[in-house]
Amino acid sequence: MNPATIAIDGPASSGKSTVGELLAQRLGYLYFDTGVMYRAVTWAALDRDIPIEDEPAVTALAQQLRIKVTPPTLDDGRQYTVLADGTDVTWAIRAPEVNGNVSPVSAYAGVREALVRQQRQVAAQGPVVMVGRDIGTVVLPDAELKVYLDASVEERARRRWLEEQARGKEVDYDVVLASMRRRDGIDSTRQVSPLRVAEDAVVLDTTGLSIEDVLAEAERLVEEQGCRPD
Ligand code: C5P
Repeated sequence: MNPATIAIDGPASSGKSTVGELLAQRLGYLYFDTGVMYRAVTWAALDRDIPIEDEPAVTALAQQLRIKVTPPTLDDGRQYTVLADGTDVTWAIRAPEVNGNVSPVSAYAGVREALVRQQRQVAAQGPVVMVGRDIGTVVLPDAELKVYLDASVEERARRRWLEEQARGKEVDYDVVLASMRRRDGIDSTRQVSPLRVAEDAVVLDTTGLSIEDVLAEAERLVEEQGCRPD
């Protein structure tokens, strides 16, 4: 039997979303990227002029905001559609203002509590590949397979920079690198659920590897895990 709950964690642009989605497709599992939830709350706070440093207000927002992730509703390269209180925010949540504010928002304990509860409900619905920062450590500590994807910060910044260019955005590599370093710093040093490797996770360093290589390795891990007696 293949593992029914697969947790993929790692820093920004480590390949989690691409590999997670492809792996879920191959296995016929639900794919769920938890980062979109933190991004949707951040987008909504900015949209409603709620100061990011106002923890009670941002927490109340996270508790009230209806975030829905559905299969893609438009054929514009999206992996899925994200709705925040009914508004399509799929692309808006990738804006630089969201990138710049999402880490402080996701450091708030109340925000995490509200979103983790919803993430567990999603996972309870069936076999899932869930992607994030704390899936193997906090959200699904009993996940049957835990993978931690990593890559050097320079390589991850290069990937992000190439993605932005492909979307027609002219951004400076050094700016992307600085933003990535800042986000890494906050995500891994915050008090609540910092980014770290679960004790029972398999670490894959994807520096210099293609998506196909990483996917093949993930599939091998699934198979290996599936053959293991309980
Ligand atoms: O994965 P992505 O870059 O879209 O995540 C955006 C941000 O959301 C991360 O930098 C992190 O601050 C936060 N996040 C988190 N826990 C998760 C997923 C994302 O704290 N499980």
